[in-house]
Amino acid sequence: EAAEARFIANNPLSKKQHELAVGALPGGNTRTLLHTSPFPLTMNQGKGAHVWDEDGHKYLDLVGELTAGLYGHSNSIIRETMLSTFDNVGLSLGSTTVQEHKHASLLCSRFKLKRVRMANTGTEANMHALAGARHYTSRRKIIVFSGGYHGAVFSFPNGKAAPNTVDKDDFVVVPRYNDIGLAVDTIRSTPDLAAVLVEPMQGAGGCIPGSKEFLHAIQDAAHEVGALFILDEVMTSRLAPHGLGFELGLKPDLVTMGKYLGGGLAFGAFGGREEVMAVYDPRVEGSLAHSGTFNNNTLVTSVGYEALKRVFTEEACVELNERGDRLRERLKQVTKGTKMMFSGRGSLIGVHFVDEAVEVFTCGEDIQGKERRDLMDLFWFEMLEAGYWTTRRGFVALILETEEKELEGFVEAVGNFAERHRDIM
Ligand code: PLP
Repeated sequence: EAAEARFIANNPLSKKQHELAVGALPGGNTRTLLHTSPFPLTMNQGKGAHVWDEDGHKYLDLVGELTAGLYGHSNSIIRETMLSTFDNVGLSLGSTTVQEHKHASLLCSRFKLKRVRMANTGTEANMHALAGARHYTSRRKIIVFSGGYHGAVFSFPNGKAAPNTVDKDDFVVVPRYNDIGLAVDTIRSTPDLAAVLVEPMQGAGGCIPGSKEFLHAIQDAAHEVGALFILDEVMTSRLAPHGLGFELGLKPDLVTMGKYLGGGLAFGAFGGREEVMAVYDPRVEGSLAHSGTFNNNTLVTSVGYEALKRVFTEEACVELNERGDRLRERLKQVTKGTKMMFSGRGSLIGVHFVDEAVEVFTCGEDIQGKERRDLMDLFWFEMLEAGYWTTRRGFVALILETEEKELEGFVEAVGNFAERHRDIM
């Protein structure tokens, strides 16, 4: 309570902004995830690796816009591309464009896809991929995993489809991600199965990497029953130069992507095998229509292309993820023997507070009922006071512009936090 009282006292302008926003937005909010109690902080500027709130506090940005903010706030290539596209090309031409082809070609070569199509969000990319899988197989059911998140209307917490999930009855949710036996049995026993949709590392579900054995087993089982294997790489494509699936030796029929691949602007894409993507070929009678006014807008495709080609190069990708691995190890070191746990891979880190030592942590169910929300809240309030912008639920996504010494400062702040609260940790 003391930390919350300090938060309220320190942020009068964010509080005021929240009170104004509730007049137009339910709960003052248009992205449920960003609501925090007693009110969210409103940021009003980002520069480099930092953000500033309404009350003038400066923070190191460790939210990284939940992975979409990879390029930081001030990349000069992104800025120049935006301005020159506006000046020399124009925004929407109502036609196919050279820019969409360049971006698509780069996505294909980088992520080892034969064909790709674009959308505006990761949610849409998954929606289209599922439609494509259904069309291709002439089947209906989709297998997903508990804790899986595939976008606003494809959320599967606690082994169930969230109430707003579209076609709720068409999803079979496998409890316990990473449980090979359970997953393979479900795949083999589900009639009318069009696809298995899975994240190679559950992101929103707590930054839980899928084991290589698990992912290969479900890929093989899907193929055995004639279903497609769809890998949701919306968050994870940044974890290895050609995406996490490629790194793990997977051969998905379709891959969905988004987030940073629009260079910081709204973006989604899905692609994969030539025969499967051919269902979208408009030259073919009976093909599947896939539309979207902004799918090929010149701004996103230009910026996405330049950013991936010139900024997040394969070398930059390796370097960033190594930095993330080092950070995770340092965080583990300074919190040894406490209730804090760190999960994830490379540049994406999950922060957890669990009541008792958890031996195996391979799915959300392993820590269910043992999580300490109160400590997580305290951590969030105190990290803000120390100048670190993290998500309330404990998710850290590194951005390219962050310097090593700033991350070392974060490690120190986390170590101090653990020390200060030794009695309850
Ligand atoms: N898939 C995964 C794995 C995600 O993490 C997300 C977003 O967090 C999405 C899909 C949805 O992407 P978007 O928010 O762009 O719709």
